[in-house]
Amino acid sequence: MRVFISADMEGVTGIATPEDVVSGEEEYPRGRELLVGDVNAAVEGARAGGADTVLVNDAHSTMTNIPRGELHEGAGLIRGNTKPRSMMQGLDPDHDVALFVGYHAMAGTAEAVLNHTFVGHELLRLRVNGAEVGELGWNARLAGAEGVPVGLVTGDDATVAEASAELGASTPTVAVKRGIDRFSADCRPPAVTREAIREGAMRALERVASGALRAMSPTEPTRIEADWSATNHAVAAASMPGVERAGSRTTAVAATTYPGAFEASVGMLRAGVAGRNECYG
Ligand SMILES: [Zn+2]
Repeated sequence: MRVFISADMEGVTGIATPEDVVSGEEEYPRGRELLVGDVNAAVEGARAGGADTVLVNDAHSTMTNIPRGELHEGAGLIRGNTKPRSMMQGLDPDHDVALFVGYHAMAGTAEAVLNHTFVGHELLRLRVNGAEVGELGWNARLAGAEGVPVGLVTGDDATVAEASAELGASTPTVAVKRGIDRFSADCRPPAVTREAIREGAMRALERVASGALRAMSPTEPTRIEADWSATNHAVAAASMPGVERAGSRTTAVAATTYPGAFEASVGMLRAGVAGRNECYG
């Protein structure tokens, strides 16, 4: 079996504040260790569950958070953030399952740690054919379009609730902490959460083997809309060919297929944050 892991950081064990996830901040080195701990637990579980290959895509901010030497030697690593498919780079139809590790709830979710959608300051919300999605739903639909189910989601309790709503309540999840507000959390011990992640990844592979997991079927053709926090971001996004200015603070892309719209939306979002340092995921 071939396993793909999209590894974000805000939903990792023990992480609660921007200082934990922003490179250069005092707490970041500890945050990075915690990230590697959760990802390695997922890799171990996948390998124990029968994975022949595991590919990890570093999916947070600069996407250079996972040091190659500290990642499980049984996993490949995609590093860096100039990727057409961003948080989902490397996933192809030959994968059997995708695991989302360290994910977080969509922007505006109450009692959800570090809740945001792709970019924290500039983007209010994303919609796919009219339905609001977070990174989880946006990325899970891409996996679905490639025929790949999402088999595990780890994050805070709000992320687990979002996963159940998007993917069905039977999808394996691990709540590594309880959100109090955007910058505070009640955190479970790493030894406990890593065991749960390991076990969750094994369960995901069992569900693949038994045919119990279903890939999402995104609606096509697909229109993806972005509501920005301010008009300047909408102007910058709409400067890209193919991006429509759909409102004073809203831009949109459309394509006949979900992957086409997804890749166009990555470009639209990058263009919209132009003028700031690039931080994605
Ligand atoms: Zn992130």
